[in-house]
Amino acid sequence: MEATVRYNNFSDNEVLDTSAESFDSLLVSGKMAAYATKAVPARLQNLNDEYGIEYYIEPTLPDFRVGNDFRDNDRIKQWHFDYIDKLHPAVERILAEQGNLDASEISPEERENIVRSDVKFQERIVPDSLEKNSTKYQDISPSEYQPKAIIPWHHRIRSSDDIDVNAHIIETALDQTSLTLKPCIQTTKEYITNLSNQQQVLDMLVEAGVDQCFIWIEGLDKRDTGQDTYEKVTRFVKAVSDAGIDPHFYYADYFGTMLKHAGMSGVTYGTMWGEEAEETVEGTSGGGALSRYYVPQMKDFLKIPAAVELQQLADAPMCDCRVCSDQFDSWTDLTEREEDDDENIQTPIKKHHLIKRYEQIGEVENQDLDETIEACRGEFNEYVSPFNSANQISPSKKIDYLPIWVNAIDNQLN
Ligand SMILES: [Zn+2]
Repeated sequence: MEATVRYNNFSDNEVLDTSAESFDSLLVSGKMAAYATKAVPARLQNLNDEYGIEYYIEPTLPDFRVGNDFRDNDRIKQWHFDYIDKLHPAVERILAEQGNLDASEISPEERENIVRSDVKFQERIVPDSLEKNSTKYQDISPSEYQPKAIIPWHHRIRSSDDIDVNAHIIETALDQTSLTLKPCIQTTKEYITNLSNQQQVLDMLVEAGVDQCFIWIEGLDKRDTGQDTYEKVTRFVKAVSDAGIDPHFYYADYFGTMLKHAGMSGVTYGTMWGEEAEETVEGTSGGGALSRYYVPQMKDFLKIPAAVELQQLADAPMCDCRVCSDQFDSWTDLTEREEDDDENIQTPIKKHHLIKRYEQIGEVENQDLDETIEACRGEFNEYVSPFNSANQISPSKKIDYLPIWVNAIDNQLN
């Protein structure tokens, strides 16, 4: 199973550069690659040369469908501007005229022009930069540094008309590129839990002739998703895989990893969070970087004081990952370190997260379904009472998603 980490923030540079043994590929923000045309390709080249890390470029076009998150006081944000500048001029014109760019509301010709320009952008942004910035003594073979696959513009699916729009985009992209195509199915929980909708999406993928895809189910949040939804999602992932198309979650928590038993071929997450997402509509402020520690037994993040209290109540030994064991002698060290210097704790706890996630993926890969179920049940049983008696854990936090996950995959796959 492929472990893919989102690279959409320069503050993650150090974490990614020093954690390359803890992931297989990066999903690079398209607008960031358009903005930092020298630094991002150089980093990707280095990670590829040193560790064999591959990459995908995330299409930024879906950002423009609704809302105003890509503008700052009515002006297009610099990253988005640099990205638009590299695409077909229709993107800039439509945004100026209409405010947004919705793939279903433009002519097929315009859609094709934009799709082709985005495919070219993904194919060329890294190799072209490496070529341009290489010294004459370096022998760069640009094709070595092409993306692992092209992710065509994805149009959010909530109706069969939306499926047709995606079918047209995929067909156009297939004609444009000789690289592998990995379309992203972006949809909602409400839509994809309907079995006839699942069939329509699957038929579209099969007809397109692709052999892999990303799946982004908006709102698949462990705090807000019931067992029935998880069961239907499991069913969909299995159906996609059974049809010979490798599914890869575009945002994934541990449930995505468990779906390896349904044929899941990859999972994507951030250095911290990035496990689920919804289409952004309102302007979002960057916000402060929140320090959250990934508790592997819970498969979730907690504020550091809450994580420390929980681990102490559970009588857990200090985390044995190379970062924690090197930097913290005991759980209380973690609290002290955060109190000392909030900034400085981000890098180690992000690295801890990447290491533990990769470990968990490896574990699940080596387990059969019942072993995964048993291990997850065991951790829930061990942690439910410490969780309930911890004072520092926010009342909005839950742990009951663990038995929900277990029951969902047990019902659907056993
Ligand atoms: Zn650790």
